Amino acid sequence: MNVFVLNCGSSSVKFQIINTDLDMFETDSDRRVAKGLIERVGKDDAIVNLEAEGQEPIKSIEPIHDHREAILRIKKWMEDPNTKIEGIHSWDDIHAIGHRVVHGGEKFTKSVKIDKEVLAQIEECADLAPLHNPANLKGIYACYEIFGDKIPQVAVFDTAFHSTMPEEAYLYAIPMEFYEKYRIRRYGFHGTSHRYVAYRYRKLVGKPREEVNVITLHLGNGCSACAIKNGQSINTTMGMTPLEGLIMGTRSGDIDPAIVEYLYNKGLGSVTDIFNILNKKSGMLGVSGLSNDMRDIEKAAAEGNHRAQLALKMFALRVKKYIGAYMAEMNGTDAIIFTAGIGENSVLIRKMICEGLENLGIELDDELNKQAVRGKCMKISKETSKVAIYVIPTNEELLLARDTVRVVKDAPRMW
Ligand code: AMP
Repeated sequence: MNVFVLNCGSSSVKFQIINTDLDMFETDSDRRVAKGLIERVGKDDAIVNLEAEGQEPIKSIEPIHDHREAILRIKKWMEDPNTKIEGIHSWDDIHAIGHRVVHGGEKFTKSVKIDKEVLAQIEECADLAPLHNPANLKGIYACYEIFGDKIPQVAVFDTAFHSTMPEEAYLYAIPMEFYEKYRIRRYGFHGTSHRYVAYRYRKLVGKPREEVNVITLHLGNGCSACAIKNGQSINTTMGMTPLEGLIMGTRSGDIDPAIVEYLYNKGLGSVTDIFNILNKKSGMLGVSGLSNDMRDIEKAAAEGNHRAQLALKMFALRVKKYIGAYMAEMNGTDAIIFTAGIGENSVLIRKMICEGLENLGIELDDELNKQAVRGKCMKISKETSKVAIYVIPTNEELLLARDTVRVVKDAPRMW
């Protein structure tokens, strides 16, 4: 099957076309045949990047006014005789569409085929993720408008993997009626990534799912940790929104909520303004005063910039804190898994996080840590380490494509 995997942001449309099927999962013979990104959707100077595997990418600046136009642009490119995508000549060669949907609330515990009822339920969840779900919905509606019911559409939720968390992990210690009335609770995000790397780990070590006990660290632009016990997410650092937990590029992660009132009383604007600061101007950017990109911060720190050095230490300390917390919660862990932009690339961050955890049985091999290169699974712990440490590249799009196939063919899911 050729699956069109779509990830719509408020002003961006990211896609991949993946050739995959049930019999290809075991052999990992699925293939990405095209990918692309359209940014600045809604503007006259949108940036269009389209790439068929093995061919020169196309880059252009064009007016693209909404998500529908963006998808039509991709369709036009796919159907252009000069575009050579393996196995694809027109949209008739696309067999299903898989959408990334950020928030599935409590309703969606697994990927589902989209119909009118599902759409209405995703609409309801938009209240919980006003920054993300409306953009995801635009992509779904655009596909409906263009293709009608001809191509099955599947929704894959970032929250679904965490639906196994027990009450004591997902509830906040606030009056219970807030949960009962407003569904205020921890939902967690990056579920597709945590689930994917845990699955890769299981394949690497040859364990059944029920025996997977690991802590996964998704460290990218957004960051979250997940405690996976007996193959299920039992806790994760992001909360009702992606703001909670680890320190991120521009998000603060955990803070004392009383700070919000204090800043408000200091005249720093409305509550919305203050949350804007916590979401967009805090984290590594806020502490370093330089950048949200870990590469810039590492460079400045190496040149002696104190605030950059401090930001790195704070980042690593927060991750260590959650490793300790989750090891306590899980009564130990078999492995710690690093993934995403920082987790897969930063030798320094991995070292800073693992340093001083030897008494917990976590021993990083400095040489192996340096050898880990992006795109490759690698064990980077010492032979003597009780807890194995891995770098495992994430691939959310592949999991989206595979889930789409499973849902369309009504096959059991792998996780
Ligand atoms: P992601 O959200 O997974 O795409 O991760 C993106 C982030 O990864 C960037 O904003 C950087 O902070 C970080 N990153 C990418 N490459 C490197 C690198 N070589 N060293 C350190 N951080 C990196």
